[in-house]
Amino acid sequence: MKLILLGAPGSGKGTISEKLAQDFDYFHLSTGEVLRDEIKKGTKLGQEAQTYMNKGNLVPDEVVIKIVKQITLGKKDFILDGFPRTVAQAEAINDLKINLVINLELSEKEVIERISGRLTCEKCGQIFHTKYIIPKKPGICDVCGGRLIQRDDQKPAVVKERFKVYLEKTQPLIDYYHKKKLLKDVDASRKPDEVYETVKKILA
Ligand code: AMP
Repeated sequence: MKLILLGAPGSGKGTISEKLAQDFDYFHLSTGEVLRDEIKKGTKLGQEAQTYMNKGNLVPDEVVIKIVKQITLGKKDFILDGFPRTVAQAEAINDLKINLVINLELSEKEVIERISGRLTCEKCGQIFHTKYIIPKKPGICDVCGGRLIQRDDQKPAVVKERFKVYLEKTQPLIDYYHKKKLLKDVDASRKPDEVYETVKKILA
């Protein structure tokens, strides 16, 4: 199964992808995660990507397309999380023969509330939320004891910009995949477990 998870930032693409990867043994590729890893390692690619990511903008198409082509090469089952984000990216992977695109629907208000409340462990990357996934000790990661921070791209002004970019560049993909008869819409405003059950039923 070659699956794409489409949706605004904060719609739960990462959480759903991780669960699917575990339950179905699919390879999970999050372009955002790959880019954040490159930033951590201080590579040239990471330095270039960071200038776009900190402002809420998209990293250039050719950079992410190259990453996805390299990592998916020869793989039969995978989930793309956060890719494609533009029509040019979608066209570049036409040869991968995607089977299904799940569109996680969420309003702008919910996007902003979800992302601006997120806290990330600076050591292990585990995600918490001031309202929904509250850490046992404030500011401390339950998993590794690391410090919880708000990533630059989770600050309200940047979140607004990310949503604007989503509407402009990524939302056209809904129509694009609808026309290809690959799209299934899922209401992402419900509890994560309910959303996941709906996604699993679509895959069954
Ligand atoms: P994410 O974790 O998927 O929300 O991605 C975080 C940031 O990484 C985005 O706001 C973009 O700056 C960058 N990014 C991730 N995936 C892509 C992509 N497919 N195209 C361009 N930029 C991307």
